[in-house]
Amino acid sequence: MKKHEAQNQLNDKTAFYDATINDSKFGTVGCVAIDKNGNLAAGTSTGGMTNKRWGRVGDAPIIGAGTYANNNSCAVSSTGWGEFFIRAMVAHDISALMEYKGLSLKDAAKEVIHKKVPELGGDGGIIAVDKYGNIVMEFNTAGMYRASMNDKGELYVGIFKD
Ligand code: ASP
Repeated sequence: MKKHEAQNQLNDKTAFYDATINDSKFGTVGCVAIDKNGNLAAGTSTGGMTNKRWGRVGDAPIIGAGTYANNNSCAVSSTGWGEFFIRAMVAHDISALMEYKGLSLKDAAKEVIHKKVPELGGDGGIIAVDKYGNIVMEFNTAGMYRASMNDKGELYVGIFKD
């Protein structure tokens, strides 16, 4: 196929898709924190996803989907396949399970990351801290670059499952 023919085909498509690109790493950077007054905060800066159309909005900037903090429950920052994190309202869902069902942060995160998101067909993970300072980092992918520090200054760094 000539170059201009290939270009014309590309122009007909809404997004460029290259089946040979099969790198499922996510480049997002997220953070969650609790201060000495018990205020919780979350932030997420997306790395975006390969082969998505320009102008796409992922889960990271949508409060409740990729990012959420609530002083009554927890702060959550997500990484993963954003469309599924939006559908599952992952960050808020974890908080809601804690508030309405009384689940611990760990159990709430497991429910959403290991059941709800994969059942929809998505993958990814979260970092989170609850109002007591418990830290949870849960993911259903092979690995998730992560680190945490508690109020004693103890540092934890991880890549793959423990
Ligand atoms: N969740 C991000 C997005 O869908 C991707 C990522 O976590 O790297 O935009």
